[in-house]
Amino acid sequence: MSESRVEVCETFTSLQGEGLHSGLPCFFIRLSGCNLQCSYCDTRYAHEPGTLMGISELAVLWHKSRVSLVQITGGEPLLQDGVYHLMDTLLESGAEVLLETNGSVPLDRVPWQVVKVVDVKTPGSGVAESWNAENLRWLAGYDQVKFVITGREDYLWACDYVERHHLTTFVNVIFSAAWGDVAPELLASWMVEDRLKVRFQLQLHKVLWGEKTGC
Ligand code: SF4
Repeated sequence: MSESRVEVCETFTSLQGEGLHSGLPCFFIRLSGCNLQCSYCDTRYAHEPGTLMGISELAVLWHKSRVSLVQITGGEPLLQDGVYHLMDTLLESGAEVLLETNGSVPLDRVPWQVVKVVDVKTPGSGVAESWNAENLRWLAGYDQVKFVITGREDYLWACDYVERHHLTTFVNVIFSAAWGDVAPELLASWMVEDRLKVRFQLQLHKVLWGEKTGC
């Protein structure tokens, strides 16, 4: 039987820039292709065709990176069937695996050991209808739900969603300022004012390196 392969946009080692693992060294595997067109997308290059790579080849690259944390991202990584073999292989190799997904694809086949970082797309993204609400069923206490906030309307919408679904009682919730759309200090001030039990996020990699890719 031939080994499964995935279409890869890029791999690199850097600091994790987002979420609860922010600041830790991390090996990134960015898969190609996406089913959405978010207004603030900063990885449009990942929509282009990538390079087919074997799962074992990627596991070797991760091993050579000398970091335990690996993030599978995109694009939308769950669009490729080989990603499930990739997650299994990395877990069996001893990696701590993060999966970043846009929330539109069912999470039911993702191994429970994988930490899921899942977007709930806001109205300002232009693709709010893509959210698969069934995915709430597949989240555990170590997973992370992320709202990218483009302005006040998004903020109020996200607060309402968090409250209606009691998100903070069973999963980590993150509000992130859409780069260039809303000033981070403004979002922070709204969150302090409302005493939200939600984590504020700055995209660390953009603070350090701006829009540069592969870092
Ligand atoms: S889901 Fe991610 S990669 Fe796809 S369009 Fe939205 S921001 Fe870009």
